[in-house]
Amino acid sequence: MNEIFSIAGKVAVITGAGGVLGGSIAKSFVEAGAKVVAIDIRQEQLDVRIKELTDIGGEAIGIIGNVLDIESLEKVAQEILAKWGRIDILLNIAGGNMPGATLAPDQAFHDMKISDWEKVTSLNLNGTVYPSMVFGKVMSEQKSGSIINISSMAAYSAITRVPGYSVAKTGISNFTQWLATEMALKYGDGIRVNALAPGFFIGDQNRAVLINPDGSLTERSQKVLAKTPMNRFGDITELNGAVQFLCSPAASFITGVVLPVDGGFSAFSGV
Ligand code: NAD
Repeated sequence: MNEIFSIAGKVAVITGAGGVLGGSIAKSFVEAGAKVVAIDIRQEQLDVRIKELTDIGGEAIGIIGNVLDIESLEKVAQEILAKWGRIDILLNIAGGNMPGATLAPDQAFHDMKISDWEKVTSLNLNGTVYPSMVFGKVMSEQKSGSIINISSMAAYSAITRVPGYSVAKTGISNFTQWLATEMALKYGDGIRVNALAPGFFIGDQNRAVLINPDGSLTERSQKVLAKTPMNRFGDITELNGAVQFLCSPAASFITGVVLPVDGGFSAFSGV
């Protein structure tokens, strides 16, 4: 790999690494020579992930952690510092929608369950802010680091039925710009903060609304493809290169961007 795109030897914390996209990124990171700290709340998923990463010769550890619990994250940070002495990269991947927070087609907005709204907005927004505070503190002490957040197409224009998820992802786009500015004003080019805005990838969070039980496309996923000029869903590996690029020296003058990885969805008016 050309040096300018290298992340070899970097210590990378990946939240939600037990999930579909986090798992794919974690694999690409160990393949690129990074040391991966996989964080998730699900022990079983974490065990599967660490076996997968170490089976291919990767340097990786799994630590149970809750992105909504600052104390749990502080313990994780101490554990990483004791093992590897530094934290170079934070990938805030934990997040997602929940069936209970998605309005049914015949449901009115005023029927929305407030408890689910609170869960989804908190997981996505606070679940990005809290790890950024805890692991960002280590980066501030080092005066170096790179943070990547995950926004969404829902942050660009309205996507029906998912109000909480959309509001939280819009918050993540703004938080990315805010924290990038704050870090650059304090630490120059040492600490960079960027985000990806994935288009539509089939994950656990959205499989049921995009794919019918018989494997055919739902009416909703047909609408998604009609507005995606490349006319397909993303493959889960298609975020990997963009994340690595943003964390590498090649992106040394890039901070505060939200990069769409969407097959053209955000560029297209639909006409
Ligand atoms: P996923 O559900 O497969 O993975 C999310 C992981 O986060 C899970 O392993 C889960 O256990 C973990 N997690 C949940 N709550 C946690 C907590 N409190 N603390 C620690 N870990 C926790 O989801 P995915 O499809 O891989 O999505 C990953 C990210 O990408 C999410 O932020 C999602 O919103 C975003 N995204 C996904 C798509 C898509 O099409 N799949 C599109 C746009 C954005």
